[in-house]
Amino acid sequence: IVQTGDPVLRQQGRWLNRADITSPQIQELIELMRETMREAPGVGLAAPQIGESIQLAVIEDRAEYLADIPAEQLAKYQRAPVPFHVIINPKLTVVGDASVEFYEGCLSVEGFTAVVVRALNVRVECLNEKGEELTINAHGWYARILQHEIDHLNGTLYIDRMNTRTFSTAENMFRFRA
Ligand code: ZN
Repeated sequence: IVQTGDPVLRQQGRWLNRADITSPQIQELIELMRETMREAPGVGLAAPQIGESIQLAVIEDRAEYLADIPAEQLAKYQRAPVPFHVIINPKLTVVGDASVEFYEGCLSVEGFTAVVVRALNVRVECLNEKGEELTINAHGWYARILQHEIDHLNGTLYIDRMNTRTFSTAENMFRFRA
């Protein structure tokens, strides 16, 4: 997984048309991204993170990732399982004024974390892996994942949005904050 400092993480990804999406190359890329995300493990992975500057990301928050997290924490984060899915050429709209701040990390800024304010509710219009139009209404942690991944497709990292004084190694966050 590409780490921060690589210019590919700072470029706007290229938009895909339906012929691109259904091509064997893109279908194979989606499979590779699914495996890479699961191996990491992560709850989202954007194509620029594996060096491909295109508007495509995969998302999955598996029930097994949540199994060891206490119910009160899940409620606080408003986190629930999200099945595997693909977003292509996404357009994100913030819904309402509510925002929430939590520690967030990124597979491309390995070992670190910081507090990032994100909208609580978002709507995403995009295409799926078959090139079909899809509208997603998301809330809580899922809305945060979508904002984080769509930022990647536009060359933005969470470190551009973080509260800089909270920037911490993941180890120290658990040591001093958890
Ligand atoms: Zn990331």
